[in-house]
Amino acid sequence: MATQGTVTFDRDVCKGCGLCVAACAIRILALDETAINAKGYHPVKVLDPSRCNGCTNCALMCPDQGITVTKEKLGARGQLVHA
Ligand code: SF4
Ligand code: SF4
Repeated sequence: MATQGTVTFDRDVCKGCGLCVAACAIRILALDETAINAKGYHPVKVLDPSRCNGCTNCALMCPDQGITVTKEKLGARGQLVHA
């Protein structure tokens, strides 16, 4: 069954290492070169939130536990299925 994910970042925890960007197989993460966070780094941003599948690879890679992922199952017509 397909899944839909929601990924959120603690912007000011991020140190711009890019590990999560490399870990995302569908390439929807990037460092935001236009922003600087409280630590002085370019924080990560989500380019296309609707494509996140909730795999959690990005969260597993983050050395600072700055990423939270939630996942929902999708039904045959793409609708959210609540367990
Ligand atoms: S949960 Fe998976 S698909 Fe979603 S942003 Fe992270 S690595 Fe990419
Ligand atoms: S892995 Fe964590 S610290 Fe590194 S860029 Fe991603 S959110 Fe920022």
